Amino acid sequence: MIRKFLFDGIPSFFYQYDTKTPFVQCTMCETSLATSESYVIEKVFKQNKHLNVSEIVYEYAICMHCANDAGAKISHESRLAINRVIDDHRELLMMKLDYLHRTEKYNLESWLERCSLTGKEIRRCNEYAVSCIVENGNMVFEQGPMVVSDEFMEKLQNVLSVETKQAFDKIRDKVFDGSPSLEDLIFSPAPGLI
Ligand SMILES: [Zn+2]
Repeated sequence: MIRKFLFDGIPSFFYQYDTKTPFVQCTMCETSLATSESYVIEKVFKQNKHLNVSEIVYEYAICMHCANDAGAKISHESRLAINRVIDDHRELLMMKLDYLHRTEKYNLESWLERCSLTGKEIRRCNEYAVSCIVENGNMVFEQGPMVVSDEFMEKLQNVLSVETKQAFDKIRDKVFDGSPSLEDLIFSPAPGLI
């Protein structure tokens, strides 16, 4: 059973990496998040195998308006393909959510230990994406917070249409300021999936 539990505020894990304070504006449209009823935060990490630590690659906050815009740019063909991939993993996702809600494990560690869709341990991922929804200043435990492994992202990338990939590239360029060294990263389409 999926319930909705509000964290008191936003866990510092979802703060901005540089300032160690909560995001204040939408990365896309720069609207203040204080006036935004709900928004999404996503962070992508790379595992540094030598130092055995996770390093942040990029992060952003996106208001629901911009998230919906991004979602609308997903082609019909890609949307069907994405749904098929998610459907293949839905049983595991639902089992995990049921367990976490039933046992009231409302702490980030429990939710972010393994890929929400494939069950792959996050410490074994080269790259992974973590996202959450914030509502009126509180992080929501419901379907998320989610963590998506490199394994699942690759599955998604394989089925996306060219148009959809280009639409996501535009978001990525905005987030990255067009930094070319990040070109080969897997871009998580989390905002578009909501
Ligand atoms: Zn926005």
